[in-house]
Amino acid sequence: MIKDRLLEVRERIAEAKKGTERDVTLIAVTKTHSPEMINEAIDLGITDIGENKVQEILDKYDKVKPVRWHLIGHLQTNKVKYIIDKVCLIHSVDSVKLMDEIERQAAKHAVTMEILLQVNITGEETKFGVAPEELDILLRHAGTLKNVKVVGLMTILAKGDSEVSKRLHFNNIFNRFVDISSNKYDNVVMKYLSMGMSGDFETAVECGSNMVRVGSAIFGDREYKQ
Ligand SMILES: *Cc1c(COP(=O)(O)O)cnc(C)c1O
Repeated sequence: MIKDRLLEVRERIAEAKKGTERDVTLIAVTKTHSPEMINEAIDLGITDIGENKVQEILDKYDKVKPVRWHLIGHLQTNKVKYIIDKVCLIHSVDSVKLMDEIERQAAKHAVTMEILLQVNITGEETKFGVAPEELDILLRHAGTLKNVKVVGLMTILAKGDSEVSKRLHFNNIFNRFVDISSNKYDNVVMKYLSMGMSGDFETAVECGSNMVRVGSAIFGDREYKQ
């Protein structure tokens, strides 16, 4: 089951990026899924998995084969300490306060944590992320940090958005990604643009994404425990 879906997702990504040299990292989003299912995906070649809750990472961490863990959901400052030595990339950084706490914990563990800044391009519809106007504050703050490196941007679009408006938003983020690359902020490199989920990853890749976070298109519908 997973095998066929995964193959199809890979083909659709390849088709969407056709004609470009770009590598697109596929992150399999494994929230609600068992360690057994995750290990099956790893056996099928998945190298990167994404979880949106700290607790789920902690519950599964020891039961899952070696893999790169990504934290893709909202992160509370008081939980940074639990995942600092477990994840390779935090996608959801949206405040100076959170940057400072990641810096503090990363220094404690003598690691450099790579982070993405989550941009909220749609305003009201999604709760988390910084408004595009506030990005500059966080980008300049990166220059004061030693154990945190900003390596790109992430965004989540509202599910109900039309194809046209999604394309508009994705293009808008891509333009900022390019602008920031040419602005030369200290301690900032625009390496990853994390956008695209099951419902919109092809559009995202066509608009310049090089990191997609795909859950249900690989694993099927999620069942949330009551
Ligand atoms: C759940 C989730 C995804 C994947 O969603 P699908 O629609 O199942 O592909 C991607 N990004 C984030 C932040 C998520 O929480």
